[in-house]
Amino acid sequence: MRADLLALLRCPFCGGRLGLVESGFVNRTGDDVLDGILGCHCCAFPVVDGIPILHLEPSAADARAHIDAGRPDLARRAMLGLAEHGAAERFDSAAASPSATYRDIVEALGPHFEGGYFLYRFSDPTYLVSQAVVRAVAGTVLAGGGRAIDVCGGSGHLTRTLLDLSAPPPVLADLYFSKVWLGRRFTAPGCDGVCCDGNAPLPFARGAFRFAVCSDAYHYIWTKRLFASEMIRLTDTGDARRAVVIGHTHNANQWNPSAGMPLPPEAYRDLFADLSPRLFGESSLLAQIISGGPLDLSGSPAAGTLDRELALTIVASADPAVFAPHQLTPPAVARGEFRLNPLYTAAPEGENMRLTLRFPSEDYEQEYAACRQYLPAEVSVARTALAALPARTLSTSLDALARQHVVVDLPKRYC
Ligand SMILES: [Zn+2]
Repeated sequence: MRADLLALLRCPFCGGRLGLVESGFVNRTGDDVLDGILGCHCCAFPVVDGIPILHLEPSAADARAHIDAGRPDLARRAMLGLAEHGAAERFDSAAASPSATYRDIVEALGPHFEGGYFLYRFSDPTYLVSQAVVRAVAGTVLAGGGRAIDVCGGSGHLTRTLLDLSAPPPVLADLYFSKVWLGRRFTAPGCDGVCCDGNAPLPFARGAFRFAVCSDAYHYIWTKRLFASEMIRLTDTGDARRAVVIGHTHNANQWNPSAGMPLPPEAYRDLFADLSPRLFGESSLLAQIISGGPLDLSGSPAAGTLDRELALTIVASADPAVFAPHQLTPPAVARGEFRLNPLYTAAPEGENMRLTLRFPSEDYEQEYAACRQYLPAEVSVARTALAALPARTLSTSLDALARQHVVVDLPKRYC
């Protein structure tokens, strides 16, 4: 945790600034605080592995006691919920290995860790829409500089897409320490991480960010009114160049197997009324992305159209440049490395390889059925072309597969 992150933090309860308790245990590398205690007017919060824990869950109290006792190793185990000695040893040894992959760490975290579909995240339809909207909107409001935050960001898949847009680096905030830890190590290396509760006031200063996103989580938040006003406060920079995006939030007017506590479109609009919100249907945004763009945020879909959508995207901004058509430009150079999408199996076929789409489960196939709109059931590619993977840049034939998401840009040491 660097000083520029500490300067943005505020206690979620008293609103006070947080300062490092220098009289207690502190473990630092240069200016970076890895483990220590932060204090405000009312509370003491632990910093574990560079991640400030700004909630009061029982795990945070245990971690704080371990830091007080000078045992950051036990504090990390407490935050990861690794009570059993064997599991803790397995995690510690995987974490210490420079060659460990995201998958190794997820497996070391045990079967209770919901990492099952992470492998396929970069080509699922929810991600494609959120990623394109984030690139378009953050790219507009952060063009002159400024910081971004991904709230309830899980293990940082969207944070990753903000790495080159946000200066200083984006903040990944989530309730679960294990996810923020994975995000910082693998998915969005270089981002800052904070553990906090989306149902409480968010632990940041007013105007700390020009761009704030929350995707695939808003329907699970009970205190939606508080959350909306907090997202608006976080981006209250004092000028128009700011935006809030809520990606993939379920529509109460449509049935959903994992609905959470969704609202109808007009209720979502009311919650963000202070920052000129517009709502878009996820399926219509996906259709624009599949056809290669542009991503058109200039319109305002009619209420009847939104009512039929399973999930919605909310874009709230005082910047008129946000509400325009945005070109979609796939990166020519991989942020991590281009690889075959793990949803495909490859089998030899003469000089070619036949790639076949295989879903990990029926549940996945049902939940992400829309991916059949762009992932071909079968495709054939020259063996020599495929042998070039993993790669940072793509030949013409592989570039065509990347546009269909058969080849994807994955973080290094992902699987
Ligand atoms: Zn406080």
